[in-house]
Amino acid sequence: MAATIIDGKALAEKVKKRTAAAAEGLRRRPGLAVILVGDDPASRVYVNGKERDCAQCGFLSFEHKLDAGTSQEELLALVDRLNRDDAVDGILCQLPLPKHLDEETVLNAIAPDKDVDCFHPVNVGRLSIGAPVFLPCTPAGVMEMLREYGISPAGKRCVVLGRSNIVGKPMAMLLTQADGTVTVCHSRTPDLAAVTLEADILVSAVGRVGLVTADMVKAGAVVIDVAMNRNAEGKLCGDVDYAAVAEKASYITPVPGGVGPMTRAMLMANILTAARNHGA
Ligand code: NAP
Repeated sequence: MAATIIDGKALAEKVKKRTAAAAEGLRRRPGLAVILVGDDPASRVYVNGKERDCAQCGFLSFEHKLDAGTSQEELLALVDRLNRDDAVDGILCQLPLPKHLDEETVLNAIAPDKDVDCFHPVNVGRLSIGAPVFLPCTPAGVMEMLREYGISPAGKRCVVLGRSNIVGKPMAMLLTQADGTVTVCHSRTPDLAAVTLEADILVSAVGRVGLVTADMVKAGAVVIDVAMNRNAEGKLCGDVDYAAVAEKASYITPVPGGVGPMTRAMLMANILTAARNHGA
């Protein structure tokens, strides 16, 4: 039987509506400062999307567009100013930064209470001890999808492909905190299929077209595809061989229209949290 498709686009709209309704009850509008350095077209598209989401949720967005030659000192001075600006609840520095800028230094300069991407070591630490202020947007989006479709990780075998700081590792933490039994795989994992075949919930966050084939998936598994790749025809796709795996899984996320929109929606939820914590 074909899998139920987890509709990330529809759920993201629901999350944004819920967030907008909650924001209406605040004394002032939440504000997001977006820093964009240089002219990377993909980054421009992402920033536009986030600004549209802010408008949809009734939030203010303040764009700081800097030219590609901006120095580290200038960028850090801007972050410092935004850290002290009471109209700004969240600060988002769009990655990647031009090569001469040190991403880690810049991200670590963002005040933890405005770190709505949940990249700062303080927020990662809070998450790891089970006391988060913000949730990392992509893994939180996956958890929201599981909740919406009545899929509990409790007692389930969960396998996460990928161990990056922004997706794989926090994903494993959230699944563990939800009482899943979690295995994390990476580029040095031998015999990936032997591990994935055990998964009741399989999350792929690698970035390789066709990595997860139907013979690697247990019948009835829940398959979440985080990846955003381009196939040989230039079409957006994930890691999972969607058509074949959809015949075997119980639930599956499409790409596009799956995890991507949820990531953006969860960012809005974090901005709301930040505004509340700032007394808005
Ligand atoms: P990343 O930093 O490049 O990490 C990729 C991970 O995959 C690494 O841990 C790597 O292992 C592992 N890996 C590479 N080849 C593998 C293989 N053959 N088998 C198993 N694991 C393998 O990427 P990322 O930032 O986590 O992003 C992953 C994907 O998700 C990308 O396609 C990205 O575009 C997408 N993404 C989507 C969203 C969204 O909103 N939908 C958000 C963020 C990212 P090592 O650690 O050993 O190198």
